[in-house]
Amino acid sequence: MGVGRVSAPQKITDDFVQTFQIEGMNVRGRIVRLGAVADRVLQAHGYPDPVSAITGEALAIVALLGASLKFDGLLTLQVRSDGPVSMVVADFAAPGTVRACATYDLHKAAKPGAAMLGEGSFALTIDQGADMDRYQGIVPLEAAGLTESVLNYFTQSEQIPTAMRVAAATVVTRDEQGRLTRHWRAGGILVQNIAVLGGQGVQHLENPDEAWTRASILLNTAEAHELVDPQLTAERLLYRLYHEDGVRVFPPLPVQFGCRCAPERVLSVLQTYDREELSDLVVDGAIAATCEFCSATYRFTLDEAGAQAPSADER
Ligand SMILES: [Zn+2]
Repeated sequence: MGVGRVSAPQKITDDFVQTFQIEGMNVRGRIVRLGAVADRVLQAHGYPDPVSAITGEALAIVALLGASLKFDGLLTLQVRSDGPVSMVVADFAAPGTVRACATYDLHKAAKPGAAMLGEGSFALTIDQGADMDRYQGIVPLEAAGLTESVLNYFTQSEQIPTAMRVAAATVVTRDEQGRLTRHWRAGGILVQNIAVLGGQGVQHLENPDEAWTRASILLNTAEAHELVDPQLTAERLLYRLYHEDGVRVFPPLPVQFGCRCAPERVLSVLQTYDREELSDLVVDGAIAATCEFCSATYRFTLDEAGAQAPSADER
């Protein structure tokens, strides 16, 4: 005790999620840092800043929660709200691919100081791959934001004491030509009291509740800017928070942007429309459908899109 140490030096400094353990505390956690990945997703969407910030937080959250999935697992976060941001969807496909998008009301979102989320629902869906059950937990959306909703989810669905901080923000850097550029970044830390799980590796502590309280209080001393600061490595941030107890970090898991949209998937959606509805979608001889996540546009002729579509009177 009292020996601050961080072992296993990490090779990558951005776009990863990493598991850590606080020595002698029965506390496990994960830290996520998204640089180019967050920037890629959020710049491409071009949402107003407050909408981008929520979407970036959702990216950090799915990376924190999804990192424990099996090799072909999928974790999806879906928020529906009656606020300026009406929907946020983010997902994490194991072993480390994320994407996110949002829908919003431009006029409401542009009001200075407006809360982006109103009342609604917060759902997490976990799909562990072929032959495994799909699990979905839904809790009310907390007006305080996504973090509060995740914590509420853990209290109600998993009953593992959890603390979490996430942030998404822009940083301005100067490139080689001296020009200033603005980048989106996202980051976060999650800690969990694994003592409730029992089993291997759980230590018998004199004051287990006190250890957990201290771990969560220390986490909440992490400032939002520290979670996204490109100059502050994940290791140094963990060291700052938990050096008195010692932190053991595990190898980082790289995170990348990726979309799973494909022409067949778009076609299968279009084929749920009838022929007349499809005809209304034809512009310049084609039906164009754009992926909300990656902005890829797929074009089909009416015959392709309507190959199996019934006409309205057949239904
Ligand atoms: Zn896509």
